[in-house]
Amino acid sequence: MCGFRFSARRSMKLCKTKRCRNPKPHWRRFCRKCQWRQLKERDPLRYSFYHLKNRAKQRGHEFSLTFDQYKDFALKSGYFERKGKTAESLSINRIDNSRGYHADNIEAVTLSYNSRLKYAPIPQWLKDEILGKSKAASAAAMERGAVVGGC
Ligand SMILES: [Zn+2]
Repeated sequence: MCGFRFSARRSMKLCKTKRCRNPKPHWRRFCRKCQWRQLKERDPLRYSFYHLKNRAKQRGHEFSLTFDQYKDFALKSGYFERKGKTAESLSINRIDNSRGYHADNIEAVTLSYNSRLKYAPIPQWLKDEILGKSKAASAAAMERGAVVGGC
């Protein structure tokens, strides 16, 4: 019984990290999650570069930055030291919003500045309308079982 379980686990090719039971690709020693965690600990700058690259890809932005360009930017602008979640943390802003992440199109701005940028072009009346609609939508969602519609 025990031997059977052991061989089954071996053939499933599990991640080599202790206590991690995620399957892994056969050509790697660790699962994707553990690899990311290891990279984060070993080389935080490179980790944040790949993180940004992945996010850009997910959102459909172009991405032509090389690691060296990113490193240069992150260290010179202070982004690497000050990135985070507070209002005064730095985040990467694309100067021309229609373009992607290129060496000449990024700047480090505080999060509060970045969110102002995002919301500034929306007029107040439109905001109210959006907020009103989302409230109505969530109210409708709460009344599950009631007939949906009539808007
Ligand atoms: Zn793992």
